[in-house]
Amino acid sequence: MDLLEYQGKQLFARHGLEVSPGKAATSVEDAVAAANEVGYPVVVKAQVLIGGRGKAGGVKLAADESEAREHAQNILGMDIRGHTVRTLWIEHASDIATEYYASVLLDRQAKQPMVMFSVQGGVEIEQVAQESPEKLVRHHVDALEGLSKAEAIEIARQGGADEDVIDGVADVLMALYEVWLQEDATLAEINPLIVTPDRKVRALDAKVSLDGNALYRHPENQGLSDSENEDPIERKAREQGLQYVALDGDIGILGNGAGLVMSTLDVVAQAGGRPANFLDAGGGSDAAKIKQAVGLILANDAVKAVLFNIFGGITRCDEVARGLIAAFEEIGVGGSTIPFVVRLDGTNDVQGRELLQKAALPNVHAAATMNEAAEKVVELAAA
Ligand code: GDP
Ligand code: MN
Repeated sequence: MDLLEYQGKQLFARHGLEVSPGKAATSVEDAVAAANEVGYPVVVKAQVLIGGRGKAGGVKLAADESEAREHAQNILGMDIRGHTVRTLWIEHASDIATEYYASVLLDRQAKQPMVMFSVQGGVEIEQVAQESPEKLVRHHVDALEGLSKAEAIEIARQGGADEDVIDGVADVLMALYEVWLQEDATLAEINPLIVTPDRKVRALDAKVSLDGNALYRHPENQGLSDSENEDPIERKAREQGLQYVALDGDIGILGNGAGLVMSTLDVVAQAGGRPANFLDAGGGSDAAKIKQAVGLILANDAVKAVLFNIFGGITRCDEVARGLIAAFEEIGVGGSTIPFVVRLDGTNDVQGRELLQKAALPNVHAAATMNEAAEKVVELAAA
């Protein structure tokens, strides 16, 4: 889960990192009011989940109210590489002497946390890594020991930070490591990390990704997910405890178990179809869960046909059939013109198929194998 810059900065501030005072705004009037409150000069910043906002014209300095208004008008609604700007962050502008780079992430290959630091800040770090890799310090941290002050000082020194700010940079690295660790982040990045003319070290930008699976440990972070950018069906699924990922095809998919659903996506693609979603109803799902799942799949207007691929293990096929029947009752007979192809195999499959047959749901087709089901659903979606 990626955070907007200002949300990342709020996390930073909680862990003692210095950030500039500022306010978020979603209208020009609010932005101007925020600028007046924060004090000029201010910087008006587009809040979108993509980097390179400065280059795209989404970060502008304003010396007074009229400039703040002009920039807010221009940036709100702006499209930055497919991301529409709906929120602005207005902060008191900083004077910059130098721009550094700092980040903490998990190095999956080394299976260790990694701190990165460079004095080549303000540019894309991929570029630094490629053009002058010697300017990028990569330091692995012993996860049990944590990052010591001595280590942090060594990183800053090795990276070539100015002598007088080595201590300040080391403190930032330690605080950033705490953000990454305590908040269950997968990435915590500051670019640029600036040194002001009066030699203060401050985070001017924030890029934080949180581990969505650890969110239950951080109730205070739950509201941070960028609901504007989140697919509304994905959000609903998350609230219902279902694993749903929106895709761009027209065949709704439901299976039980992530592996089975992935194979189902492959088989549908192989049969020439395009899945509209990934949806794992999980093991042991009961009729109520299946009913919710049908609701999610049909909430997507692009769906032309639905494939249920159930391999009954812990999940009982008769429960799945009951869920489907309940969902149809709710929709109302004839309420859905969307055809369903259902493959039930495994625990209680005979009972499940019997239930479906007895219910005689309109537009529901049974299939014996996964390949047969995929071919049938592709045919129905194209009809
Ligand atoms: P990004 O382009 O999406 O990475 O957005 P940043 O927040 O990093 O801002 C881009 C650039 O704008 C920075 O590298 C700075 O050079 C500049 N900038 C941002 N905030 C300020 C500020 O308060 N004062 C000054 N002088 N420049 C700023
Ligand atoms: Mn940046």
